Amino acid sequence: MQQFAIFGNPVIHSKSPLMHNLVFKHLDYSACYGRYLLEDGALLREKFLDLGLKGINITVPHKEHAYQACDFLDDFAKRVGAVNTIVEKDGKLHGYNTDAPGFLKAIASFKESKTVLFLGAGGTARSTSMILQDKGYSVTILNRSKERLEYFEEKGFETALIEEFQPSSFDLIINMTSAGLEDDSLPAPKKLLDTLIPQAKACIDVIYGKETPFLKLAKEHNIPTKDGSDMLLYQGVIACEHFTNHKYTTQEIEEEMKQAFIL
Ligand code: NDP
Repeated sequence: MQQFAIFGNPVIHSKSPLMHNLVFKHLDYSACYGRYLLEDGALLREKFLDLGLKGINITVPHKEHAYQACDFLDDFAKRVGAVNTIVEKDGKLHGYNTDAPGFLKAIASFKESKTVLFLGAGGTARSTSMILQDKGYSVTILNRSKERLEYFEEKGFETALIEEFQPSSFDLIINMTSAGLEDDSLPAPKKLLDTLIPQAKACIDVIYGKETPFLKLAKEHNIPTKDGSDMLLYQGVIACEHFTNHKYTTQEIEEEMKQAFIL
């Protein structure tokens, strides 16, 4: 039986074991999926091999360590420097980034949207902004501190510090920060959001499993909202296609995996 796991710190809250085990069980694939609390990201490769795993997903804060641990990277993972899925093939570790295509699929229903404002400039913003740029979206990145904006400036994005930003109109406003994940904070000052949100077609949060203060505020402005559940589902579906070596169709995997969101 093949063994898979999610590596991260923390991992106790992760839905990934449930998502993947539902697929393995219902499609009769001989595998199981657990969780592994990895404190030191530098040990990722060693632990993966010691545990005899076939594949892993990687969550916060180890996606850059995962990138460094691989023998081979797909083109997109190589460009963004972050890996959230690793599969062992013939003793070599192959790395992929499924967060970004998962995110793209999650926002596909917002047709006609071309201008996007990201609140936040962390690892998730790096990969998702790149795929949006590839698809022709115009993406502006705001962050509360300067350091993380430098990467985006180098890649040709419009960037600004939240405190210096002169508001204008965007089709989609997306919370890419962890503000609201474990606290009740907004990703930017309420006054700024009260100006930006009413001009948007939709507000999206990558946080899932709760109504964040950001999405609550968007609802108060009667703007359509979406949380991070679909992104989580679709990154998992694409990861599972790699894990099962493309034995099943996307639809077959999605059908089983989405049951994890109603349990
Ligand atoms: P990082 O730690 O790499 O980046 C965090 C970002 O949030 C930084 O830009 C940071 O700004 C900003 N930030 C944190 N707290 C606040 C705050 N109170 N106010 C304003 N800005 C803040 O995180 P990730 O990019 O890895 O993750 C971001 C979010 O995406 C998390 O909530 C995570 O759960 C979610 N996520 C969801 C996924 C899904 O499938 N739905 C997949 C992956 C991630 P600064 O630079 O100033 O510190």
